[in-house]
Amino acid sequence: MPENILIAIAWPYANAEIHVGNITGSHLPGDIVARYHRLKGNKALMVSGTDSHGTPVTLAADKEGKPVEEVYKKYHDGFLELFQGFGITYDLFTTTHTENHFKVSQSMFLALKQNGYLFTQFSKQWYSPSSKRFLPDRYVEGTCYICGYEGARSDQCDNCGNVLEPEKLINPRSKEGGALELRETEHFYLDLSKLEPDVKQFLRERSAHMRDTVIGESLRKIESEGLKPRSITRDLDWGIPVPLEGWEGKCLYVWIEAVVGYLSAVIEWSQLSASNDAWLEWWANPASKHFYFQGKDNIFFHTSMWPAELMGAGKEFFEFFDRTPGSSPEKIGGKLTLPYDVPANQFMNLEGQKISGSRNWGVWGRDALTRYDPDALRYYLTVNMPESKDSDWNWAEFVTRNNNELVATWGNLANRVLAFCYKNWEGYVPDVDVNTLRESDRNLLATIENGFNTVGAELEAVYLRAALSEAMKLATAVNVYLDVNAPWTALKADKASAALTVYTALKAIDSLKVMFAPFLPFTCEKLHIFFGYESPLFGEQYTETVKDSLGEHTVLRYKGVDGLQWKPSALKPGQKLNQPGPLFKKLEESVIEEERARLGK
Ligand SMILES: [Zn+2]
Repeated sequence: MPENILIAIAWPYANAEIHVGNITGSHLPGDIVARYHRLKGNKALMVSGTDSHGTPVTLAADKEGKPVEEVYKKYHDGFLELFQGFGITYDLFTTTHTENHFKVSQSMFLALKQNGYLFTQFSKQWYSPSSKRFLPDRYVEGTCYICGYEGARSDQCDNCGNVLEPEKLINPRSKEGGALELRETEHFYLDLSKLEPDVKQFLRERSAHMRDTVIGESLRKIESEGLKPRSITRDLDWGIPVPLEGWEGKCLYVWIEAVVGYLSAVIEWSQLSASNDAWLEWWANPASKHFYFQGKDNIFFHTSMWPAELMGAGKEFFEFFDRTPGSSPEKIGGKLTLPYDVPANQFMNLEGQKISGSRNWGVWGRDALTRYDPDALRYYLTVNMPESKDSDWNWAEFVTRNNNELVATWGNLANRVLAFCYKNWEGYVPDVDVNTLRESDRNLLATIENGFNTVGAELEAVYLRAALSEAMKLATAVNVYLDVNAPWTALKADKASAALTVYTALKAIDSLKVMFAPFLPFTCEKLHIFFGYESPLFGEQYTETVKDSLGEHTVLRYKGVDGLQWKPSALKPGQKLNQPGPLFKKLEESVIEEERARLGK
């Protein structure tokens, strides 16, 4: 029975280019897991979008002196290009600035309000008399009253990580310049304290399979500090309006709005796929499994805030959100599906320092693709993924691991066996009688076939480094087998024996191709064609322009292929091959100094 799997990835702000740290932090691990589940025949759906609201985006627009809409679209278009280049196969990558997202967010708000989880309260916010408006949090900086850091934002300190109360900020100053004064303003608060027992219960039920770093930042933190109410509206003119009379000029804040995107994107995907109710199979189905990928700075929002919103909104969400006429309410379990796992990653640094846009200390995704193949980048980003602690992108290591592991262990194995076979068996898999396979042949194939269990188990649990390392160990086993059986020397004296060896090695490589495919999709697809198969392993990415009352937005989509491919090779003796070629490129040592010279310029 195919499972419904949701791969939900943190929404990037439309204010900066995506760098390797972002890719290895969320987009790539999500893609690997999505591709694995698709090969397994599960109904995997991968969604995210550009966060086009929020003060980081308006600040970027102010800085560039352009309309917000123009600036968010510029970054959004760049994201779509990058995801296609890296093969990050979103079923839907959309934006928060859509009519659908407005409606879903407002329905969540209204359901939470009706269920008694919202209250209003006056608080003091920084006001700019010259521009006659309340300044969004990031527009005001000052000294953190907890740790003394001088560059703290009025709502949060990036140094100590604490959420701050704006009025306590020391020496506040406006990023726009000009005077500041504290004024009273009324806002809605999500009463997280009321939902605390439910959130704790939810986290305890998942603590056995969630990462320890994630439980530490969620369950253990709540147990020691409790959950406090959080304001969920702001005085803003760019964003999603509070859907109540008398609240004009106030918008839903990103804390509540951005996470709702995981739900609204699946609804938009349903509408674009012309099956309006399909989203219920993921969102009102207790058996569907939801995985949330993001960096460690976002753990709270996905393990505590978002589950609290989902539980608080309850079945009332479905009532506020107009369902398609004729849909069957009994299909709805009455509950919105809660996260199954939140495999948040730590951070990736670069050559020992934090990645920084302002200092150009970064490896930018689109730029890297102009010099390297996507699978070479995906390989290094996976073996170096910051799953349990911060990791470091090091150019010398990138070159070494590319040449010594990807090229030497896996690429050369596939290439030399295929090329040898293509030349000496005239373009066909040796036509051997499989009943004559020797014990060492059968042993190798049994070892490789077991990889579908061991590599699969690591992928299910989102231990991607371990999964890839397990697949690489199996490739080494095939290399050892070839060294022992040496078909290149056996060819002249005993071609029948060489044929058995080549058939066995090809069948092992054909299986390994599937195990490597979630990590290295471009080269595995190429290898799949060398083997002579006609239907591809994966589907295709494409963009589409969608019109609604807010204008137009471009989305990235994915058209999948049916079938269960996560299984051992059934390579037929005598199968026609296609002309093989190398899968990867060896990198020159000179790359290291060239790349290091680019940093910080
Ligand atoms: Zn601080």
